Amino acid sequence: MSQQPTVGRTVHYVSHGTPVRPDGTQAFPSRCRAAIVTEVPDQPTPDNRVGLQINSPDGPFSHPLSKDGGVPQDEPRPFEDLGEPYAYAGGSWHWPERV
Ligand SMILES: [Zn+2]
Repeated sequence: MSQQPTVGRTVHYVSHGTPVRPDGTQAFPSRCRAAIVTEVPDQPTPDNRVGLQINSPDGPFSHPLSKDGGVPQDEPRPFEDLGEPYAYAGGSWHWPERV
């Protein structure tokens, strides 16, 4: 059903946005960033964690499995507060959306 990530694949990392205001807006909403899978665990975790190298516009940074446990996968979910059809949790990864 869901494809297993392998080293070298390109995925999306979701940046952490600023806190949601009472009116539902954010100064900086979370965004999809291009990321490369740098590590996969020997045994897949329930949340499908991988090590990522993330390419943000400000420069690259990494979330290695050995250092901070890597990054969990997230699936699209209803995000009714912002009136958008789908959103992902900040600090997660997903396969790039097909457009
Ligand atoms: Zn995305």
